[in-house]
Amino acid sequence: MRSAIERYPDQVSLARKLVFALIVAGAVFAASLLGILTRPIGFLAAVWPANAVLLGLMVRNPAYATTLGWLGAFAGFFVADFVTGSDMPTTIWLTAANIAGAATGYVLFRLMPEQDRRLRRPVSVLYLFAAACGASMASAVVGRAASHLLFGKDFFDGLAFWSVSELVNHLIVLPMVLTFPGVKALLRQGKVQAGVGLAGMLHLAPALALLASVGVGIVVGGPGVLAFPIPALLWCALTYSLFTTTVLTMALSTWLLISLPAQMIPLSYLPNPIRLLDSIRLGVALMALGPLTVASTNTARKELIDKLSHQANHDSLTGALSRGAFMRRGEAKLRQLSRTSRNAALLMLDIDHFKRINDRLGHAAGDKALQEFFRVVSSVLREDDLFGRTGGEEFAALLPRTDPIEAAAIAERIRLAVETARITVASGERLRLTVSIGVAAQAAAKVAHFDDLLLAADRALYEAKAAGRNTVRIGAQQLQDAA
Ligand code: GH3
Ligand code: MG
Ligand code: MG
Repeated sequence: MRSAIERYPDQVSLARKLVFALIVAGAVFAASLLGILTRPIGFLAAVWPANAVLLGLMVRNPAYATTLGWLGAFAGFFVADFVTGSDMPTTIWLTAANIAGAATGYVLFRLMPEQDRRLRRPVSVLYLFAAACGASMASAVVGRAASHLLFGKDFFDGLAFWSVSELVNHLIVLPMVLTFPGVKALLRQGKVQAGVGLAGMLHLAPALALLASVGVGIVVGGPGVLAFPIPALLWCALTYSLFTTTVLTMALSTWLLISLPAQMIPLSYLPNPIRLLDSIRLGVALMALGPLTVASTNTARKELIDKLSHQANHDSLTGALSRGAFMRRGEAKLRQLSRTSRNAALLMLDIDHFKRINDRLGHAAGDKALQEFFRVVSSVLREDDLFGRTGGEEFAALLPRTDPIEAAAIAERIRLAVETARITVASGERLRLTVSIGVAAQAAAKVAHFDDLLLAADRALYEAKAAGRNTVRIGAQQLQDAA
């Protein structure tokens, strides 16, 4: 449920709008100062988090995105630039570009599903990328247009540089803002994971590995440095929360964005050509681990989901379909068969005097009998018949492409197989079971609802019980239809 404020941003009171605008202004101001600190002389900042912070704030809280909110953002950029000594034209130029980028990004984010705005699905990353591209392009275009007007610079000159810089800033900062779980949740999460001892140490291992990969990068140098942290970063992604991963990714990216251009790590001019090869080879080797990690994790996840969905749809004692799954699948199957006007039959099976087995031999013997009953009946049914346990000692089977006469024959075969089977229970005693079966069928030309079929089979079952049990009864309607 979205909050009222989110749905009706226009109806927020003026006082709240002012408070929101101040929050936006403060956040933009702080993030801009942080960016200005990393701004090399004569260049755009190496890392400029302010635009992404602004965009993220607006996307998370659409109530901030009022005219006052955007004015607050403008003020934040303006004051930060001004107090750090930029001249007025430069300040206007940069601020116009920043606001244009954030506003474009905001519109693009409003177009995507709510879940994707919080990066909740794999495809969200694509959406994020698209919105970040749009925001970066808009900010670069407005920035270059402004510098063309203000300083007479060539419009296209530096367009790519500007948009790529914006893109990297958006992609490393925005995920952090969008996935921030709130201070309370973060503290709670921290408390849970701050376990001491071996478990606590192990939990830190991926982060330590990431740190080690940065250390190795500093020592080895060369172009491989870019790939060294990939496996450690993936390990972090698999271990930590989404938000923690975005923070680590941001920290690593910031380090690389500052250290590489500043030549703190030598990229290409290594003292020894062998070291250059070492760096490349180690980088490629570690990079290759990346996709492998993702693929094997995904496989394990798929297997787990298969196992869980099997458990959710099957009865744990016998392995038959659970009641819910039988009803769902049965209804779907019947609808599909009706479309192709194929006939189908439904059998309701109820073990006779089952209570006596429990009373005489105990519940465990009853359980064993249920398992054996399922095995015996399954051996008579076909591969694409649906067989479910609908209650304690009650089962149902849906037989596709089966007319009433065939259905009666199959039911009789089941009755006989159950009667002749001998079940050995733990005490060594060999039990006999009998079953009563009610049959209902849908003729090819006459479409029945699944519920009607269930009801008809249930009535037939009742007749079978009344007729003395260990017998098969077919719904009267079906017999008339078949005749
Ligand atoms: P009827 O021939 O009329 O069907 O008699 P019945 O005794 O089979 O029928 P009733 O419905 O009176 O009793 C069913 C019994 O099945 C009662 C219940 O304790 C037993 N039952 C249900 N689920 C389980 C189970 O999972 N394990 C065991 N051991 N017994 C079960
Ligand atoms: Mg019963
Ligand atoms: Mg029974």
